[in-house]
Amino acid sequence: MARVGFIGLGNMGGGMAANLAKAGHDVRAFDLSAEALQRAQAAGCKPATSAAEAVQDVEAVVTMLPAGKHVREVYETSVFGQAPTGAILMDCSTIDVGTAREVIASAAGQGYAMVDAPVSGGIAAAEAGTLTFMVGGESEAFARANPFLQNMGKAVIHAGGPGSGQAAKICNNMLLGASMIATCETFVMAQKLGLDPQTFFDIASKASGQNWSMTSYCPVPGVGPETPADRNYDGGFAAALMLKDLRLAMEAAQSVDAYTPMGASAEELYTRFAEKLGGAGKDFSGIIKMLDDSWVAQ
Ligand code: NAD
Repeated sequence: MARVGFIGLGNMGGGMAANLAKAGHDVRAFDLSAEALQRAQAAGCKPATSAAEAVQDVEAVVTMLPAGKHVREVYETSVFGQAPTGAILMDCSTIDVGTAREVIASAAGQGYAMVDAPVSGGIAAAEAGTLTFMVGGESEAFARANPFLQNMGKAVIHAGGPGSGQAAKICNNMLLGASMIATCETFVMAQKLGLDPQTFFDIASKASGQNWSMTSYCPVPGVGPETPADRNYDGGFAAALMLKDLRLAMEAAQSVDAYTPMGASAEELYTRFAEKLGGAGKDFSGIIKMLDDSWVAQ
């Protein structure tokens, strides 16, 4: 078992750090929030007084922070030069591909092996240890990170070189955002055309319109498996986080001159839902309410 420094104990990091401790690792945890630190301590981690202290003398570092600027700052001020160069560094936050590549290059320049390892799966998966990790980095770095990521997830996939984990994550979520909107508008139209939603679900699930947003995460209450739609769109994957990922996807698309009209529409529609209509805290499938004019008129 290893000594692990864990920085960022929020909604996701709290459960992930607890799972590393449960797996027998000696987890030294740090967060700017005292409350998050207390929760991590109750879950078997040792609280540190700073990020720099958390990474002293460790064999591995895991970070789970809000955005690229936090990741850059934490690594530059508290990890590089503080953690031993033999430690494997893993950033599991969802951030832009450019920052991920820069931080990994900077790590390499100072003698560290580092991977970007963003996750698919929400707070419940972080707690249950059933996340999917998409990992970018050199093969040797991936091999060293793998056992730690396995302790926190059900699947760990090597996506390619540095930044490829972030690239895979935002490509996947762009597809998810666009397919959810397509599913939502289709169900609204089907209903207006007089189709029963359950009957249409049964047909489309066996026809070429079949997709995950419909069959595993149906946005219509009472149709398909139980989803946030059955809980007034509470819990699940917040529209604000979908919007964050779509913005990262559009930034990445621009950087490589990729033409992504569906992704751009998804970003525009989630901006409207999350920021203009107050849907930020709702599950991302709640966007069906915006597409249904009977609801918008209320
Ligand atoms: P969160 O805001 O709940 O947690 C982030 C934590 O980082 C906070 O506790 C904050 O205090 C801490 N923090 C910020 N700056 C810090 C610093 N300089 N030093 C130490 N701690 C610092 O966010 P979250 O929901 O846990 O998400 C974390 C990352 O995972 C994000 O990049 C998010 O996009 C991604 N993600 C989230 C979900 C989800 O469902 N919540 C799913 C997949 C991926």
